[in-house]
Amino acid sequence: MPPQVTQLAIIGGGPGGYAAAFLAADLGMQVTLIDQEPNPGGVCLYRGCIPSKALLHVAKVLEDARQATNWGVTFAEPTIDVGKLRTWKEAVVRKLTGGLGDLCKRRGVTFKQGRATFVDATTLSVQTTQGEAPRLTCTHAIVATGSHPTTLPHLTLDSPRLLDSTSALAIPDIPRTLLVIGGGYIGLEMGSVYAALGTEVSVVEMTSGLLPGVDRDLVNLLSARLKQSMAAIMLNTTVVAMHEEPNGIRVTFEGSEVQKPQQLFDKVLIAVGRRPNAQGLGLENTSVELTPGGFIMVDAQRRTTAPTIYAIGDVAGEPMLAHKASHEGRVAVRAIAGHKVAFEPHAIPAVVFTDPEIAWCGLTETQAKQEGRTIEVARFPWGASGRATTLDRNDGVTKLILDPSTSRILGVGIAGSGAGELIAEGVLAVEMAALASDLALSIHPHPTLSETLMEAAEVFFGQSTHVYRPQRRRSDAPRVGLASLDGLEESG
Ligand code: FAD
Ligand code: NAD
Repeated sequence: MPPQVTQLAIIGGGPGGYAAAFLAADLGMQVTLIDQEPNPGGVCLYRGCIPSKALLHVAKVLEDARQATNWGVTFAEPTIDVGKLRTWKEAVVRKLTGGLGDLCKRRGVTFKQGRATFVDATTLSVQTTQGEAPRLTCTHAIVATGSHPTTLPHLTLDSPRLLDSTSALAIPDIPRTLLVIGGGYIGLEMGSVYAALGTEVSVVEMTSGLLPGVDRDLVNLLSARLKQSMAAIMLNTTVVAMHEEPNGIRVTFEGSEVQKPQQLFDKVLIAVGRRPNAQGLGLENTSVELTPGGFIMVDAQRRTTAPTIYAIGDVAGEPMLAHKASHEGRVAVRAIAGHKVAFEPHAIPAVVFTDPEIAWCGLTETQAKQEGRTIEVARFPWGASGRATTLDRNDGVTKLILDPSTSRILGVGIAGSGAGELIAEGVLAVEMAALASDLALSIHPHPTLSETLMEAAEVFFGQSTHVYRPQRRRSDAPRVGLASLDGLEESG
């Protein structure tokens, strides 16, 4: 079979791969996008961000309905039709992946369903369900193959009771009890879904706190609520053995805080991290090198050690987040097009879509401490927010991490309802090198949770309308809002 020729071949149709393919087509390149699924979407759309957020939306509706009793509105206990829930979630996935397939056609991107491997740096073999397709010769290639769940080799069981994120998202049923191994993003998001659906969820985390690495003041607000919705949260604990019995999986725990060393669970979800998909791609037939952590090594343009091959997304390094993958994809394409670009963000936002949500961007307090950097933190507690009070959700905080000498905003952290939407303003502030006065002097709509960002900046100057802290008043606090009045004030 004669080889087919394409200018740019992209392996993997996740948020990295399809964002790259679409921009490349918009820039006039001839593009072939290869993925094993019938349409682009990747882990994010098929078995990650999108289905989990659809289910978390349902969880939020259930929790809000339960809380409504406090406001004088009592709903009957909900009945949950798991089949219908699954159908709805799948419809969301189908709608979005189908839409991406359509966008491929409209842009003239050739989409090939199959598994690609490198024969050499510019030749790809593509295996389809019908056998090997004609080989593909490309001028440039982008590897966007994503990641897969980490397994715990000593805890493998060939049992439908043992779940990973993919099988947990499939919601085969609503188990009576569920053990989640790993108190990170997936463990807490999926644990929250099952808890809202009525499962007794226990979480086991090997470190001393949930979401290791995330600022404790943010996590503490989440932990407080999870303690009410989850059956147990076991910290400093590991699972050392699992055995299937007729009625469940018997789990043996080890750790300083263990109270019941053996417990039986209907199902166990393992969510202890993800590994890059850098194996089985024929990279050994190219000069692409891997990092000690198994990621594909890339430079600021996302170029690998093979000059015509680029790598983006989860396979190219942490953080493993969809928006980071898409941004890298667009940087790589612009680099291939000859533009002067680099992937050097100041703020990649992270959001844990629990209730309350946790979101942060830029410098964190934890990181500043580790790096020995002098910072000042301005916190606005949501107990002082009118909007949070109307929502009966005062369990939140918005904080700014600032350079005390310049008042530049270096990072933002938010815990609270809707934190994932609010953090975007923080990203803009950090990326644009905003000063505390920029946030404080920008009029925010009332009553909204976005005001908490403005008031956190006012807290920095000791002049927050709703927080009284005279000892924190700073001499560089903005005196007037209009620059044109400055002269008048000085002369007056
Ligand atoms: P992926 O989305 O992993 O896509 C890679 C694609 O490449 C896959 O379709 C795969 O089949 C294909 N592929 C692999 N090898 C080959 C090959 N040889 N040939 C052809 N195709 C191949 N991130 C967020 O930012 N927000 C969230 O809310 C969020 N929620 C998540 C929830 C869950 C349960 C999980 C598991 C992840 C979540 N993530 C979230 C992480 C996010 O899904 C990933 O960071 C993102 O999908 C990475 O994008 P990517 O383009 O690198 O690769
Ligand atoms: P994670 O790294 O977020 O969390 C894994 C957790 O498991 C950690 O807290 C770790 O200490 C713990 N752990 C590891 N080994 C353990 C063991 N043997 N026993 C008990 N605990 C153990 O990983 P994840 O939750 O699997 O998610 C993978 C990645 O997917 C995330 O890091 C993130 O990049 C991405 N993701 C993002 C979102 C989002 O953006 N909202 C949602 C889901 C996943």
